[in-house]
Amino acid sequence: MKSIRLRDGKDRSLRRRHPWVFEGSIAKGKADPGETVRIEDGEGRFLAWGAYSPSSMIRVRAWSFDEAERIDAAFFGRRIRTALALRARLPIASSGVRLVHGEADGLPGLIVDRYGDTLCAQFGTAGTERHKPVIAELLLQATGLSRLYERSDAGVRRLEGLPAQTGWLRGDGPTELAITEHDWQLTLDVAAGHKTGFYLDQRDNRALFARWVRRLGCREVLNCYCYTGGFTVAALAGGAAQVLSVDSSAPALQRVQAQVAQNGFDAARSAVLEADANQCLRDHLQAGRRFDAIVLDPPKFAPTVAHAERAARAYKDINRLALLLLAPGGLLFTFSCSGGIGPELFHKIVAGAAHDAGVDGAIVERLAAAPDHPQTLNFPEGEYLKGLAVLKAA
Ligand code: SAH
Repeated sequence: MKSIRLRDGKDRSLRRRHPWVFEGSIAKGKADPGETVRIEDGEGRFLAWGAYSPSSMIRVRAWSFDEAERIDAAFFGRRIRTALALRARLPIASSGVRLVHGEADGLPGLIVDRYGDTLCAQFGTAGTERHKPVIAELLLQATGLSRLYERSDAGVRRLEGLPAQTGWLRGDGPTELAITEHDWQLTLDVAAGHKTGFYLDQRDNRALFARWVRRLGCREVLNCYCYTGGFTVAALAGGAAQVLSVDSSAPALQRVQAQVAQNGFDAARSAVLEADANQCLRDHLQAGRRFDAIVLDPPKFAPTVAHAERAARAYKDINRLALLLLAPGGLLFTFSCSGGIGPELFHKIVAGAAHDAGVDGAIVERLAAAPDHPQTLNFPEGEYLKGLAVLKAA
């Protein structure tokens, strides 16, 4: 077993059970990609077992802080069963569920979503790549399913020095899948969609949005960065008369219209626009349009803290425009999925946007990812999605 020795004083975060070891914290030790290593402090005392990743800044990711534990099939089986047991205790109103959420489930780099009877997994790191066959088998065993599609094409693979890999890992069949979320029939494509095909993290916020649209009687709704229209279906279910869905992706927009039809809503109530959302907000403002509710769910503007400042300006700009576009008393559901922007900073950004717009409002909900994307106490980076529901002053 190879050992990775940390520099003196660099053991603090591991002792607090944060699972990452950065390149600069290592005094000596090397291993092959994904190999299990013993991480030890400056005096050689055990800290954790981890997976070595020679080309990543995050050089080791901890699997276990228990010296007696072996990182073998039984270990992965235990972790997977624990993750499934947690989901079984959570309120999840969907047949689409995030079963494994990386670090938060003690499996750094592994993302597994279940869509009905199909699993879709992302092996993001050298450690998960090395144990892929074992993990795939265990996932199918633990769920009793037979189909597993691999979507290991996220940007993090490049940082790990791993090529993109996609395709059926076990079983096969159509990659177009259907799930039931709340009362809605939604479809996705595990091969062609973003991430593993769908944004499960917004599930509960979509239901909440439907309830607010109904409570307030919102008629005209604008859904910016709509992807395949989850919030569009929610708005229609909430009784909106007309929803305009905006995204820069044409295939995503095609699916918006399919989902509207599939859920029995009149096609005349839904319009889509392939455009830059920021530009669209400006154009509608200039044209004097007003909306009763607006959703802003942009992609990650700040992947890390280093991008936070520029991202903050971009968030502020779209929020300012949206607050201006809202009718008096209108509802804004605004999100950031940037790890580099915390909830407090996001709050400040939206407050700054309101100030610049000369608009006042009340925060009526603080929003986060659905609970099958757990946040653990020792991994603050896990808190990536945050949002606010703001009621503009009437
Ligand atoms: N709200 C969606 C998820 C949004 S993900 C849901 O509930 O499913 C972010 C979306 O922003 C993606 O669909 C992406 O295509 C889109 N996007 C990225 N840049 C954009 C831009 N400049 N203008 C409009 N859409 C953009």
